[in-house]
Amino acid sequence: MDQLNFSGRVAVVTGAGGGLGKAYALLLGSRGAKVVVNDLGSARDGVGKSNFADLVVQEIKDKGGIAVADYNSVVEGEKIIKTALDNFGRVDILINNAGILRDKSFQKMSEQDWDLIQAVHLKGAYKTTQAAWETFKKQKYGRIIMTSSNAGLFGNFGQANYSAAKMGLVGLASTLAIEGAKYNIKVNTIVPTAASRLTEDILPPEMFQAMKPDLIAPVVAYMVHESFTDSGLIIDSTLGFATKAHLVHSQGALLRKKPSDPVTIESVRDNWSQVVNMENAQHIDKIAEVTVNLVEKLQV
Ligand code: NAD
Repeated sequence: MDQLNFSGRVAVVTGAGGGLGKAYALLLGSRGAKVVVNDLGSARDGVGKSNFADLVVQEIKDKGGIAVADYNSVVEGEKIIKTALDNFGRVDILINNAGILRDKSFQKMSEQDWDLIQAVHLKGAYKTTQAAWETFKKQKYGRIIMTSSNAGLFGNFGQANYSAAKMGLVGLASTLAIEGAKYNIKVNTIVPTAASRLTEDILPPEMFQAMKPDLIAPVVAYMVHESFTDSGLIIDSTLGFATKAHLVHSQGALLRKKPSDPVTIESVRDNWSQVVNMENAQHIDKIAEVTVNLVEKLQV
């Protein structure tokens, strides 16, 4: 049977002690990858430590797989990558998944709530990815996943800190997809929605039961397989469904009749409905397309 496997590959999954990360680690472990199961073992607000990672490693081993636990925080991502290199001599796949929540309405959000969320989600992914990057470049092979959220793409009440970090990860992935292209490093973003301790008080109970992380794990596993060559994608997945999210431009509007005319507040107002009209929106794949589109419009 045409089964995709990961033998010979070493995968690091951060925050793999529970929830989505655990599902990714178990699936990759069952398909032959050697897995570093990283998890600080904190509560959902980032406080404390425990041994979730050990239990996942045991589960992988019980099924005949190979795995090692790592308890470092992603803010010291270089230690996690060192665990992979020390134990398995290589690293091929990095799934940046670790996460916490400090939800509060913006006015009540303390600087500590802000900083901790940026540290775990955005800086953690930066530190861990940067530590793996040199190896990926040298071996001309790497598969990286960033974990974003619909709260980042669209905003969500009480999640200003989390949304900012999650959209930051999209920007990080977009640039790394460009920088990694010539080294066969593919960098993509998953936007999951699944039952976990982060969503147990947010999702309605019947939905919570159905939204199993196992339904998303194959999507992420496919996106880190060697046969997967797309890069820079944002893939939203839940409940056995996957879709691509994409940034688009409207057709836009010229704000003055000729280049010698000024742009006035009133000309902006008078053209606004066309500025925001999303009919025939244009997909933007590369930064250069923004300039090309602009030049075309200015020549009209
Ligand atoms: P989870 O709480 O089950 O898993 C997150 C894991 O990260 C935990 O086991 C935790 O101990 C670990 N962790 C926290 N801080 C860490 C650190 N500094 N270093 C290493 N590990 C750390 O939650 P989950 O829902 O499985 O979340 C996984 C990822 O998916 C997170 O990035 C989350 O923001 C994202 N996400 C989840 C959903 C969802 O619907 N569950 C939606 C959008 C995004």
